[in-house]
Amino acid sequence: MMRAYRTRWFELRAVRVSEAIMETMVDAIARMRAEGFVYDFAAVDGARLRCLQCGRVVSTDAITVFHTVRFEGNSNPDDEAILLAVAGPCGHHGVFTGAYGPTADPDTNEVLSSLH
Ligand SMILES: [Zn+2]
Repeated sequence: MMRAYRTRWFELRAVRVSEAIMETMVDAIARMRAEGFVYDFAAVDGARLRCLQCGRVVSTDAITVFHTVRFEGNSNPDDEAILLAVAGPCGHHGVFTGAYGPTADPDTNEVLSSLH
């Protein structure tokens, strides 16, 4: 399931109107990695995130969001994805990526709606 989403994200491009450039999800992740967000976070049911470095699961209330990058699909505007650069209370800085829209994963939806 995660692999399917991941494959789709590679086809998505960020819309960054202010800078008038198109950035792919891959480029955006690389940019965040370079800023020190080197680990990964995954959605867990109940609007929680798991730090994949230490395994700690926390409510999104305990997550600090540093950057948000939104993407929309090239062909279907309903295909959207988001990249968050976050830190958990464990002190690890990393990225969380999720697709949303009609086909989104329910755990991801919960996380994203709790953060916005
Ligand atoms: Zn951690």
